[in-house]
Amino acid sequence: MSSPIERFEQLALSAPLLETLKEIGYEAPSPIQAAIIPHLLDGHDVLGQAQTGTGKTAAFALPLLERLNLSERQPQVLVLTPTRELAIQVAEAFQSYARHLAGFHVLPIYGGQSISLQLRHLRRGVHVVVGTPGRIMDHLRRESLDLDQLRCVVLDEADEMLRMGFIEDVDWILEHTPPGRQVALFSATMPEVIRRVAHRHLRDPQEIKIQTRTATVAAVQQRYCQASGSHKLDVLTRVLEVEDVDAVLVFVRTKVATTELAERLEARGHACAALHGDMTQALRERTIEQFRNGGLDIVVATDVAARGLDVPRISHVINYDIPHDTEAYIHRIGRTGRAGRGGQAILFVAPREMRMLRTIERATRQPITPMQPPSQAAIAGHRLNRFKQQIRETLAAQELDFFHELVSRFEQEEEISVQDIAAALTYLMQRDRPLQVRETASPRPADVPRSRPEAEEDADSRSTRPRRERPREDADVDKIRYRLEVGHQHGATPQNIVGAIANEAGIESRYIGRIEIHDDYSTVDLPDGMPEEIFQHLKRVRVRQIPLNISRLGPSGPARERKRAVPGQAVGRVKSGGGFKRRPADREFGPGRRHRPEVES
Ligand code: AMP
Repeated sequence: MSSPIERFEQLALSAPLLETLKEIGYEAPSPIQAAIIPHLLDGHDVLGQAQTGTGKTAAFALPLLERLNLSERQPQVLVLTPTRELAIQVAEAFQSYARHLAGFHVLPIYGGQSISLQLRHLRRGVHVVVGTPGRIMDHLRRESLDLDQLRCVVLDEADEMLRMGFIEDVDWILEHTPPGRQVALFSATMPEVIRRVAHRHLRDPQEIKIQTRTATVAAVQQRYCQASGSHKLDVLTRVLEVEDVDAVLVFVRTKVATTELAERLEARGHACAALHGDMTQALRERTIEQFRNGGLDIVVATDVAARGLDVPRISHVINYDIPHDTEAYIHRIGRTGRAGRGGQAILFVAPREMRMLRTIERATRQPITPMQPPSQAAIAGHRLNRFKQQIRETLAAQELDFFHELVSRFEQEEEISVQDIAAALTYLMQRDRPLQVRETASPRPADVPRSRPEAEEDADSRSTRPRRERPREDADVDKIRYRLEVGHQHGATPQNIVGAIANEAGIESRYIGRIEIHDDYSTVDLPDGMPEEIFQHLKRVRVRQIPLNISRLGPSGPARERKRAVPGQAVGRVKSGGGFKRRPADREFGPGRRHRPEVES
């Protein structure tokens, strides 16, 4: 490649896709997009080492949309994902990037959803199928998914598929795809097993790994705060109150987000402006000049717009949206700590972005220390100190004779004490920013009170990615022990079983309890209250090609003990039905639908 790709227009994407990217507000391709899109457009296989947050979904969705033949309603792209949540997110991303491609159809296919509905949609015809391995295998066996016209298979989060015991299924599916198809494999890590899969199924792949540049940024103290979605604005508002800030540079990912956030901060009384690549050079320069000379306290910028920004008074860089790569992070935080001063960098991270945080930590070779979102009490304490300081400074520096006289006259005329007058004035002064604490406990990010517009926005943005839970026993849920008719001799592993049950029964993996693998069967503890339809469905789910044929053995562990200890009496703390999600609603993505369909109805 001759010159580095810095704009989407440099990629051979057609007008409808470029128009969409403009509307969504993506300013420039992320490094993984710049590296991968040309290869996928050229029809090459790719092996991409990338994790969530790097923009990998668009890296494959955009070029594959470009290569679709929309007049042919046959599956042309198949994306395999480890979980149903990711399948839904990826399908949503395709739908959103295809908003100007008339007649485009994508279908997410995952366990737990009605198979007859999936059959109906498949019969009607779709261009892209995104699914979890188990259910895709089901459809291939039933011959309801016809892959004759398939042009590309994407394996998303291949190492997660390995961890969840799906890798043989992935192998099996790949063997059932036409020989000439393109394959794109993405994985955050490249263990040997994944390399073997790549070796077996990919032809001369372009290997892409985004370089992790290391750099020391010793002058900058780095912290992170857990905050996601609509809580970020409140956390930011609190941080701005308690930190000793001079000028603040806030980074977001899209042009649209720069203006939205800048408007919200302005509405909260901050001198704030947006900085993005679509602004005229004159406006951009004026904004930077105002920022430099103190006319603005906060600038909300994209990475592209803030390139090379040199404003020595920047005391804080807030990474409101986590950057796509470590290079961008290092550049961002390098905007503070300039001219020999110390700087502060604060990164907001959602739980699913913790992996990216660790990658950044390694790249900067410095710990990023956790911080709690400031509590209401901390904010009130801060306000009180500031208030006292203002009084001291006013007494020291201002000529107050006129006001002394005014107060004395008022005191005599109204017969009120000076303390009463001072208390009333204090009350008036603090009405916009109360000095009293109304909150008792320090809030967790999720408890931070939300402003009304945000609460409304949240209700409308159920496309926010669902969290993925890591396996963890939930002690508060009664469990039943079940028998599964697969065991060692069939090659079953705990990961296979967790993966199959989590996806097919819609149980968060943390609710899946103890698993014991015996020679020709296994046992697993699952929350009490499994709906009959899920139970019946699990009988047919296969692990290592063997139907689970699940059966109930009886209460397991502590529940059994508690029930024995208090015969005939309701057991305290018992929750049943825990962890079983509602069966996801029947859903179809297609034109005429909202561009980001709801995750659950
Ligand atoms: P992913 O790594 O695919 O999960 O994407 C992470 C986030 O980055 C998603 O919210 C995308 O909408 C966003 N994103 C992807 N590409 C870009 C881009 N070029 N500019 C700004 N945001 C992007």
